[in-house]
Amino acid sequence: MLYVSTRAGGENAAPKKRFTEILLEGLAADGGLYVPESMPRADLKAWRNLGYPELAVAILSEFMDDVPELEKLVRKTYTKAIFSSDDVTPLKTLEPGLHILGLSNGPTLAFKDVALQLLGNLFESTLRENLNILGATSGDTGSAAEYALRGKKNINVFMLSPHGRMSAFQRAQMFSLQDANIHNLAVEGVFDDCQDVVKQVNADAAFKAKYRIGAVNSINWARVAAQVVYYFKGYFAATKSDAEQVSFAVPSGNFGNIYAGYVARSMGLPVRRLILATNENDVLEEFFRTGRYRPRKDVAATSSPSMDISKASNFERYVFDLLERDGAKVKRLFTAGEEFDLSLIPRAGFVSGRSTHADRLATIKAVHTKYGVTIDPHTADGVKVGLAHREAGIPLICLETALPAKFADTIREALGSEPARPPGLANVEALPQRFQVIKPDAEAVKRYIAARAS
Ligand SMILES: *Cc1c(COP(=O)(O)O)cnc(C)c1O
Repeated sequence: MLYVSTRAGGENAAPKKRFTEILLEGLAADGGLYVPESMPRADLKAWRNLGYPELAVAILSEFMDDVPELEKLVRKTYTKAIFSSDDVTPLKTLEPGLHILGLSNGPTLAFKDVALQLLGNLFESTLRENLNILGATSGDTGSAAEYALRGKKNINVFMLSPHGRMSAFQRAQMFSLQDANIHNLAVEGVFDDCQDVVKQVNADAAFKAKYRIGAVNSINWARVAAQVVYYFKGYFAATKSDAEQVSFAVPSGNFGNIYAGYVARSMGLPVRRLILATNENDVLEEFFRTGRYRPRKDVAATSSPSMDISKASNFERYVFDLLERDGAKVKRLFTAGEEFDLSLIPRAGFVSGRSTHADRLATIKAVHTKYGVTIDPHTADGVKVGLAHREAGIPLICLETALPAKFADTIREALGSEPARPPGLANVEALPQRFQVIKPDAEAVKRYIAARAS
């Protein structure tokens, strides 16, 4: 399979590449993002009864067709030992036609483990030289990346996070790692500042080449591809026949998770609606409602912090398709100014909604009271917006993007009790922490990396 840049077109178009050539790449050389030149076709009949690893092999061998050890790596990743169950992403039925897809049973209790655990194994298998991973996180990506790469030979991780904006549990999970190859940088700013610094460091081609800087942030194609798998798994678990349609409700930030659902549908998965939920940071909610894209200067700190994002990094991949894959047009839109208006182009198969702190609390409480199930604040945003768009006769699958243990303050506020903690994480906040506070300044970050890079 070949990958093309979303900004290819005209003079300085980035060349088409194979999967292993884009595995480490953040942005394409023309500033775009890589996407498959064409989508593979799903074989629902053959895939319906496969176990998770077998399904993952079937799907990922389409996208990662130049990884010789792929099957071995997939089987090593999607195990009960790492994801707590053979199903990997078990479906929980709240009532007939209403389900929660459990994506958060990996080591860091958020759905990002599903993709990053595989990515760590892909890196280890395909790397021939040292690598310095540079990333930005609003909380869950960072810990998932660090747990996927800790102790791996020839890999350093430099992870930028917004200082003081993560939950105590998230901080403890990341900062308590004592592996010498893990470097936590707490940036005095918000997530978008962290992301801007990463972009600026990557824009310095000489530095990037000298220190072999790679990326694991949510624009990494391997992550998107790995997330496609559980949309199929969830569909098969919630339906009896391949003629049925389902809708998915997806708590969204960088548009990576829901974009994977869009890819699944593009492959032929019978998805009726992709229901995009935002929190108070509602740039994407507005876009899907009105067609206007207006990233904001300020990002509100909310009680679903992993969705506190203004410029969703994967969004350009979707816009590329909306504009009929006209890379020159995409480039113009994303370089001309901050805002654009695509209200005349139908955004078929997507609906959106916004959820606030009060909605989050009410939804956590309602789900707990009605079904005896505790959901985390991000999942609650998805359930709230999903229920608002639920249709009779169409199963609704709400993606569980984290476990409640990660966000105990909000659970306490909603329910007046502590969320359950998985065994082994009872005292993580008490462990000693390793991190460096740093200004949102690319030069300072470069100096820090240069002093410690392998
Ligand atoms: C990352 C994250 C999201 C947002 O996912 P995107 O792929 O960035 O849209 C939602 N909830 C949780 C818990 C997350 O960690």
